[in-house]
Amino acid sequence: MIKGGTTMNFFNRYATFNKLENTVFGVLEKYQKDTHPDKINATIGSLCDEENKLVSFESIYKTFRNLANTDYTKYPQGIIGNQDYRQLCFEHCFENLVHLKHQEVATNGGTGALHLAFHSYLNEGDSLLVPEICWDSYHVMAKQRQVKIVEYPVFDLECFQQKAQSIIETEGKLVVLINDPAHNPTGYSLGQEKWEQIISFLNQFTETPIIIIHDIAYIDYCQDRNFFTSFNKAKEHILFHVAVSMSKGFTMYGQRIGLAAVFNQSQGLVDKCLILFEKLLRASVSCCNNAAMKTIATTLANHKQDYQQELTSYRKLIRQRANLFLELIQNRFAIYPYFDGFFITLKVNDNQQRDEVFNQLIDNHVYTVKVNKGLRIAICSLSLKQIPMLVDKVALAVKNA
Ligand code: PLP
Repeated sequence: MIKGGTTMNFFNRYATFNKLENTVFGVLEKYQKDTHPDKINATIGSLCDEENKLVSFESIYKTFRNLANTDYTKYPQGIIGNQDYRQLCFEHCFENLVHLKHQEVATNGGTGALHLAFHSYLNEGDSLLVPEICWDSYHVMAKQRQVKIVEYPVFDLECFQQKAQSIIETEGKLVVLINDPAHNPTGYSLGQEKWEQIISFLNQFTETPIIIIHDIAYIDYCQDRNFFTSFNKAKEHILFHVAVSMSKGFTMYGQRIGLAAVFNQSQGLVDKCLILFEKLLRASVSCCNNAAMKTIATTLANHKQDYQQELTSYRKLIRQRANLFLELIQNRFAIYPYFDGFFITLKVNDNQQRDEVFNQLIDNHVYTVKVNKGLRIAICSLSLKQIPMLVDKVALAVKNA
């Protein structure tokens, strides 16, 4: 007898069918149905101007529009990306601060660079140390790779060290994910001193391969990237895999372009990474978007000043929004330490209470995103004039929850 389609097993043993949860789209739907004139949408994680309109940097899109038709049509130079893009993007990110041996490949966004990391360093059942409050895609990627998530508190270096040591002792290898600076969703930045402490702690385990997957998606919205110099102190057993996103810093979310850069004391090791990445890319997405690479390379080579001016003005605007938000809180509610970047996160340790605050806010026409132990507020897309009302409504919701 032929079995019905739903009972036959068409899929491999890794396939699961619980739907991908999207923490933003459900809230957005509610926002769109809300007819209140003062409703506030604090869910949008993209840069918006003071009219809440998505920002597209003119310096980028002028270059993009001026490309030749063939730039949109043709394949890139190779699977690993165009040479000029790889070099210019690398220089833009690391500013000559890291003197270790390195290799880099173009990827489909920061996500593509993270995908390479999840597929290169981890076996099924391995532990991956990730921040306990984090971008939810890490969990999706870990599930797909059958990797065990071990969480560390973002702000507690001692606890981070204990968890790292325990994985090292039990598994003989450590893969850790650090999202810094301007951590999503809190806006926390470790800074040079803490980076030095992390490297100095990990340096003692000289017999253990350690991989630091470093997600720098929001780095262009931070003033200071000198913390990269701490990488130079890492011993040979530490490999850095830096996931670079061009989505935020170049307002190119939809163009899907990024970079995976690896650093180590040994040229042999980073060369091995390059060979592996090329094959992984070939076997998954093949190459990246040629027009996007060309746009970024041309902008960085010929219009860097215009680009820097635009970026700086928006970085200042986000800083103004954040300062206003922080100033107006006046001890009425708690947030996680904010330094830089797109988001501020309301601190609610108990997730049940967080849900109550979330619902109270919706009743007051304010839409946020639930994260573990908090609510994410996207200051990147809110105008200065919305912030006082938003802060008052958050204070009221916290008081009533
Ligand atoms: N890492 C973090 C923390 C993010 O928030 C995002 C995007 O939202 C990414 C990485 C990946 O960005 P993309 O793949 O769009 O470059």
